[in-house]
Amino acid sequence: MDLVIKNGTIVTATDMYEADIGIEGEKIVAIGKGLSGSKEIDANGMMVFPGFIDVHTHIEMPFMGTYSSDTWETGTRAAAFGGTTCVVDFIIQSKGGSLQAALDEWNKRATGNAYIDYGFHMGMTDINDDTLKEMETMILEEGIPSFKLFFAYKGSLMAEDDGFYKALEKAGEFGGLIMLHAENGHIIDLFTKRLLAEKKTEPMYHAVSRPSILEGEACQRAIALADLAEAPLYIVHNSCLEAVEAIHEGRERGLPIYGETCPQYLTLDEERYTEPDFNGAKYVMSPPLRSEFDQDALWFAIERGDLQVISTDHCPFFFKGQKEMGKDNFAKIPNGAPGIETRMAVMYTAGVLEDWITLNKFVELNSTNPAKMFGLFPQKGTIAVGSDADIVVFDPEKEVTLSAKNLHQNTDYTPWEGMIVKGYPVTVLSRGKIVIEDGKLAGEKGWGKFIKRDRFYPL
Ligand SMILES: [Zn+2]
Repeated sequence: MDLVIKNGTIVTATDMYEADIGIEGEKIVAIGKGLSGSKEIDANGMMVFPGFIDVHTHIEMPFMGTYSSDTWETGTRAAAFGGTTCVVDFIIQSKGGSLQAALDEWNKRATGNAYIDYGFHMGMTDINDDTLKEMETMILEEGIPSFKLFFAYKGSLMAEDDGFYKALEKAGEFGGLIMLHAENGHIIDLFTKRLLAEKKTEPMYHAVSRPSILEGEACQRAIALADLAEAPLYIVHNSCLEAVEAIHEGRERGLPIYGETCPQYLTLDEERYTEPDFNGAKYVMSPPLRSEFDQDALWFAIERGDLQVISTDHCPFFFKGQKEMGKDNFAKIPNGAPGIETRMAVMYTAGVLEDWITLNKFVELNSTNPAKMFGLFPQKGTIAVGSDADIVVFDPEKEVTLSAKNLHQNTDYTPWEGMIVKGYPVTVLSRGKIVIEDGKLAGEKGWGKFIKRDRFYPL
């Protein structure tokens, strides 16, 4: 065999056991004891996970008058350092443009630049007869079976209920999955205008302008429409009790409703917006950070199975020069924060070590379920003979103080600055190639390739 990972503890969504993993070319070809290969990695004392999959990233995305600051090169490299071996990034259609034109634009930026494999979701901002027809091509020919719509960002990205409903029907018919940013853009727009008229311009008013009840309302509305259209629905980045209650209620009725949340909503709260010297802008994202009470609600929703996926919503901007665009107006602060590199470290420390989730659940939420829901399984999302050799060797004893200085994301801050994590990825393989070795870069840009994904099947 070309490469054998020896003596580690393999952890999948269902099992935990000691064995060696044999790799030939890009695939896992053997799992067992006493394997040997021309190159061997000693994983004694290490956990060996399937490569983690981040199904919610915004790399090099034009947004709010600027671009998210990670390029395909820097973003996928940072992802690899953090143990992520596959991202599914959001293409955003421009108003009046075709889905194909948007796909071409994203391909131009990504091709030849990624360190790890990637797929695309199609963000739809202009729903008409032509783009509805194009959805079929995306699912059946392009390997892009998932479509994101927004109930937020009135005047730019926002969909209306009738467009959303038509997209649900189309996805339901052709094996696609609609993903929704659930907030009520109309009311947020109204509140934003009122706050600004009262000269309430600081970052904290970003959170005030979009209360959690509006997220709950959007979830309820969307779930009702999905029920009527007989289509599955995946709600992205849930942040609050109202949202997960709506999902719970829908699932109790037997509807194919799914949800994700992100490390920031599980570990950070709205107090952050009051940090002095405009520092609150670092946490301006949508939905905003909520209360500690909401964090507990999200953990319980994970435990109950109402949330199936953890992603990052990685959408980085520099504090200097980009976040500062909203110095005098919170509505002009680019929405988003970095997280592509820190997900596994934060989730292991805050989730596994705090006993919110088991090791198996950790793998399920961050690798196996994302792969199953987004048409990548069993090529990715598990450690099995025949699967891609996307593997993370993880040192459960390694302590790291998270800091923008030591991370590889192309931005000047991390929301987890100063957090001490225990447990960190040390060696990372992408399709059998070592991309991170003992914490050092060993991969090369252009190795990562576009993965055509399968149609949606219910989890
Ligand atoms: Zn997002």
